Amino acid sequence: MRKKGQLVMLLGAIVCISAAAIFSEGQGAKPASAGVVSTAFERPLLVLDAGHGGADGGCVAADGTPEKGINLSILQTMRDTAAVMGYDVICTRESDVSIHDEGVTGLSKQKKSDMDNRLAIINKYENAVALSIHQNQFTDPKFCGAQMFYSQKSEATHALAEAVKGRIVSTLQPENKRETKPVGDELFLLDNAKCPMIMAECGFLSNEGEAQQLESPVYQKHMALTLFFGVNDYIYGQ
Ligand SMILES: [Zn+2]
Repeated sequence: MRKKGQLVMLLGAIVCISAAAIFSEGQGAKPASAGVVSTAFERPLLVLDAGHGGADGGCVAADGTPEKGINLSILQTMRDTAAVMGYDVICTRESDVSIHDEGVTGLSKQKKSDMDNRLAIINKYENAVALSIHQNQFTDPKFCGAQMFYSQKSEATHALAEAVKGRIVSTLQPENKRETKPVGDELFLLDNAKCPMIMAECGFLSNEGEAQQLESPVYQKHMALTLFFGVNDYIYGQ
């Protein structure tokens, strides 16, 4: 009886240790033995930002579709994919709202407050990588294609932009020749983010064909997965 009890206890301990190891692997870290320095890679947290929300719709396609809904849809798929892949994800907004402070009135003041609060979320985390999702617009309707913008202050941010651009070309837009573009203080979030952060202009709503693609839920999912795997490539140094 005593031996059987010991065996049950031993089996129970093995199950617990195995479960702990599997759980730990699932969180992206390998279990460390006592006295051994863990070299496990600490995966950064992803901060996803959908440009515009609420009264601020951003740029608008010829058929009247504002960019804010497209940005949000791409963000939601990225968020869900990243979570399935084991990332911790924070979103600056997950529905069509402006996150300005209560009591702020007037669209321009609300936009400023919304931007300040998004930056505060982005800068709250030490080990993070951030991506802001937007749609582009230009006076000449012939222009199309995704383009990545990064802060000229940060080489890491440049590398992130190149990784995402690489995925855009390899999996979604093989003809895309748009170079990643450095920016300064004209892009508030990129200029003030403490972590590597890029802005993804996913395409031009001023181009009729591309606007139709960007408004399609299936294409939005393709774009979201492409952006996610680009960020993942940067994190894993591919
Ligand atoms: Zn925008």
